[in-house]
Amino acid sequence: MANYNVALILKNPLNDSEFLLVKQTPPPKFNDEEYDSYVDSDLWDLPAIQLNHIQGEKSEPTISIQGSEKINLGKFDIESALNQIVEQLGFGVRDGGEWKLWKCVEEPEFGPGLTIHTVYIMGKLLDGNQILQEGCKWMSTQSCINCLAEVKPSTDRVGPLVVIGLLNDLVQWRKWKVPPTLSYQEYPPGVILVPMQSRTAKPFLTTNLIVFAPDSVSDDCGNHRFVAQGEALIVDPGCRSEFHEELLKVVASLPRKLIVFVTHHHRDHVDGLSIIQKCNPDAILLAHENTMCRIGKDDWSLGYTSVSGSEDICVGGQRLTVVFSPGHTDGHVALLHASTNSLIVGDHCVGQGSAVLDITAGGNMTDYFQSTYKFLELSPHALIPMHGRVNLWPKHMLCGYLKNRRAREAAILQAIENGVETLFDIVANVYSEVPRSFWIPAASNVRLHVDHLADQNKLPKEFSILKFRKTCGLHFLLRWAWTYLRFQVRYQKLSMSKLLIGGAAVAGFAVFFSIRNKLISQ
Ligand SMILES: [Zn+2]
Ligand SMILES: [Zn+2]
Repeated sequence: MANYNVALILKNPLNDSEFLLVKQTPPPKFNDEEYDSYVDSDLWDLPAIQLNHIQGEKSEPTISIQGSEKINLGKFDIESALNQIVEQLGFGVRDGGEWKLWKCVEEPEFGPGLTIHTVYIMGKLLDGNQILQEGCKWMSTQSCINCLAEVKPSTDRVGPLVVIGLLNDLVQWRKWKVPPTLSYQEYPPGVILVPMQSRTAKPFLTTNLIVFAPDSVSDDCGNHRFVAQGEALIVDPGCRSEFHEELLKVVASLPRKLIVFVTHHHRDHVDGLSIIQKCNPDAILLAHENTMCRIGKDDWSLGYTSVSGSEDICVGGQRLTVVFSPGHTDGHVALLHASTNSLIVGDHCVGQGSAVLDITAGGNMTDYFQSTYKFLELSPHALIPMHGRVNLWPKHMLCGYLKNRRAREAAILQAIENGVETLFDIVANVYSEVPRSFWIPAASNVRLHVDHLADQNKLPKEFSILKFRKTCGLHFLLRWAWTYLRFQVRYQKLSMSKLLIGGAAVAGFAVFFSIRNKLISQ
């Protein structure tokens, strides 16, 4: 199952090398002075629209699209989609001609939700003197390539439909030949994202393996000092063991001078390290020392290069800069690719939803806010998370994260001011709309928000942080387990026998821990 879009490559009748681009509508503003002061630069891409199923009886086509029979899209109403796109551009479908199917691109499974496949249709306006609407412009492939090659933080951007639909076929951004079985996406140009199944947390199933092996055309490296130099780079090899064979193919096909960069130590980011070490023991591993001390010898037993932020890496003549970004964990690092100005953000942001901070690995809310502001100052053109799709409105997304965290923190403070004292009660109060299975990671965020509130002296005098901390271990787990089981019985029709087993386990834990605590206190 997949959703389909149609994208239109409409050629300029007066200049065959130009095609029409539309300025993309940014996401809605926040109506907040601070957040709205961060504005992403203009993004230009091909006009596109969702492709729907044919409603009712299939009628005779009134326009012909050459080659459309090559792909099985019989149940889709391409004609209506095409009509709608050209109408939105201020033309009629009869103003153009020579409609032909250019290609169909299947998106890899980033999840959550359905993948989006894109059907590209190429055509040409018949009358060369048509006036373009505002927000539309003709652009040649060469000027798009220049725009992508000479990126500055505030310059206009060229979107993924142009790159994936048109430019990737014309320009060799990389020298790496991608193994044919691999489902991948190449955007920003030269940056390959391969979502691979991993032991990640729901709603995601995959971690994006990022592979970068540029054709040494540009020389960003100049006279800089580099912490590591190589011909290829892999970021976060975190796939499950069932997919190690696939990872092995990737590593075997890459140049021997390989740099491996790990954003942080979580299993879904390092599960494939052992395979890389076995296949290419010459590979240079880069990680923060707080990350490395949590990675076992079974994963990586060779040496590594410690990074702590601001170091430059040179990969095939292109420069990437390490950005220290604690918050999710205390060793979390991101990577900025200079020539595309895209930022690989690790787990600081995810493609959809909000971030979870790991209290067991030095997660910290003050750090998280500071790292988010650091990312905003970099003004990236795209954010590349390790879970989910590339985000094309980086500043908007980062401000959305700030807003969300502040709203949660305000709700936590409100609950505490209303007299709520325990971790469980705060979570149940503030995350009541979230499924109970997410309350455990949410609890980690709540504890860090309470610490953040304490650091800012915002907690009411009556609230005892010591008493609160005593409710963060077993007390929370038992109350959560009991609520979760009861919820499952009521709404998910969990059988009585499973409830009893679960209840007995909860009670058993309670007895065990209370005896243990008594023994310890004696
Ligand atoms: Zn993580
Ligand atoms: Zn992750």
